Amino acid sequence: MCGIVGYIGNKKAKPILINGLLRLEYRGYDSAGVATVEKNGINVVKTKGRVAALESVEAIDSLEGSIGIAHTRWATHGKPSDENSHPHTDKNKNFAVVHNGVIENYNELREFLGKNGYTFYSQTDTEVVPNLIDYYYNNDSINDDKKVLRAVVSACNDLHGSFALEIISTYLPEKMIVVRKDSPLVIGKANGENYISSDIPAILSYTKDFYLLEDLEYVVLSRDSAEFYDENLKPINKQVVNIDWNASAAEKDGYDDFMLKEIFEQPKSIRETIGSRLTQDGICSIENLELSKEYLSSLNKIYIVACGTAMHAGLAVKPLFEKLCHIQTEVDIASEFRYRDPLIDEKSLVIFISQSGETADTIAALKLSKSKGAKTLAISNVIGSSITREADYTVYTHAGPEIAVASTKAYTSQVVLMSIVAIYFAEILGIKSDLIPELKKDILALPAKVETALKTADSIKTFAKKVYTEKDVFFLGRGIDYAAVMEASLKLKEISYIHSEAYAAGELKHGTIALIEKGITVVSIMTDSSLTPKTISNLQEVITRGAKTLVVTNQDLGDKVFDNLIKIPETSPLISPILSVIPLQLFAYYISKEKGLDVDKPRNLAKSVTVE
Ligand code: GLU
Repeated sequence: MCGIVGYIGNKKAKPILINGLLRLEYRGYDSAGVATVEKNGINVVKTKGRVAALESVEAIDSLEGSIGIAHTRWATHGKPSDENSHPHTDKNKNFAVVHNGVIENYNELREFLGKNGYTFYSQTDTEVVPNLIDYYYNNDSINDDKKVLRAVVSACNDLHGSFALEIISTYLPEKMIVVRKDSPLVIGKANGENYISSDIPAILSYTKDFYLLEDLEYVVLSRDSAEFYDENLKPINKQVVNIDWNASAAEKDGYDDFMLKEIFEQPKSIRETIGSRLTQDGICSIENLELSKEYLSSLNKIYIVACGTAMHAGLAVKPLFEKLCHIQTEVDIASEFRYRDPLIDEKSLVIFISQSGETADTIAALKLSKSKGAKTLAISNVIGSSITREADYTVYTHAGPEIAVASTKAYTSQVVLMSIVAIYFAEILGIKSDLIPELKKDILALPAKVETALKTADSIKTFAKKVYTEKDVFFLGRGIDYAAVMEASLKLKEISYIHSEAYAAGELKHGTIALIEKGITVVSIMTDSSLTPKTISNLQEVITRGAKTLVVTNQDLGDKVFDNLIKIPETSPLISPILSVIPLQLFAYYISKEKGLDVDKPRNLAKSVTVE
């Protein structure tokens, strides 16, 4: 998500901080800010908008300090605005904090701090952090040089969720404290100075010596030292790692392309999507989506309307909505829906999915649905985007910025989020089903299982090397696997320019099998054991006609004669596309690489389709 930069040394901090923020801006941030330690205390300058906007704020010229923290925000809680921008401080500006991540229990902490006399000036989750540190500082009667550190540790012990934090304090004006949990943070060590960043590239031009922080390692930085502590304040011995990257490769965290980086980020993005919406105790709640049992019972139809990959996410969750909520659910292509005079009224709920929130056809379909009296729900990845401003309700995927044009992590986050929404609706409706507890367990286990599915990369790469010169590739699946192969086929088209078709496996022989000939590649997903024997028969039909096969499955298929068998972890068939699509995202990626194409910026495509 956002970017963090920090500096403690003998140079003026401001230009270093701005330079770091500019290097992180490729992610498309919505606000920026800096705080430095000055003679008169902590000075904060922040604004909504890009780093250029921050540079033009007059007050920034007065920052002279050589210790400072900086942030580019990708809003999760509270719209992009000056007040919501980071750094955040306590009322007396004794502590200033920048934060990357999400504090899931911020409401509870706000309430606690409110009762203890604290006031909040932003809508962010982050603002609880400097106030909580201040609270613990003021309630500590021991006055020694670890007092600020103790307050930071106590505050972090109370935080649920993810955080990378930089903290400066008037009580410790020559130091800075940093810590991370499930959000990235690194320290670059140089001569008499330390640089801090969420990404290595932002500071790679200053040093190649890094401390790579692990979760809950607390670091007290001075100009020429970095002391590491665990949460019991026991010192940790930390080694410097030399990073031998050139700056442009490092912007992708060492990956060759953003797409590969984003594919591998999926355990994290899915974790962020689940967030506090589904807790380990199985409590399901969705912020800003208060729909009554009466309203949901009155519905006779749910429409899911979207384009491209987002439409495929809709197809993947349609069975879930029907099975769990017992409401007929239709998935529509936005550009068709808007012109076909759909039968919608106040008894329809229309859900729109768009990564960017700017997809022109989807926005038009949303306006049409509203004009016909339906309630509308937007599922988007981008805070404050057009679709979220138009819809009655919005729920964010929180997948983090997706840079590669071909969507990967946004798709899996959309499917995860919509699955949670389906459970949430079923619970409001009071529907009792054994499927619900099972699904909850399976959703919570997804980040670890995606990690396992990513381990298929090497075998996929080997297969891709064999088939990258193909002209046509066919994808077959039944039921939920049909929805997944549609997405897999689109991925291949988008970045490899190979013609590909996704077919319901039983439909192939009604015409398209005429195209199968010796050497053609057929890819299939089989995750639903009730349908597997049928799909295997369909594959036998193409093998008989000389096709090469790649099968992705979570079942034991014995010694069936497929050219390549990719095993993924088991999960409920209702959410299996989240896992089965992963090897096939990698398949598209490696084919594109073999062909020497620009994976991240495929020809003719754009990330956000703002024309119809
Ligand atoms: N959750 C914080 C906010 O919305 C930080 C978001 C970020 O990582 O940029 O302000």
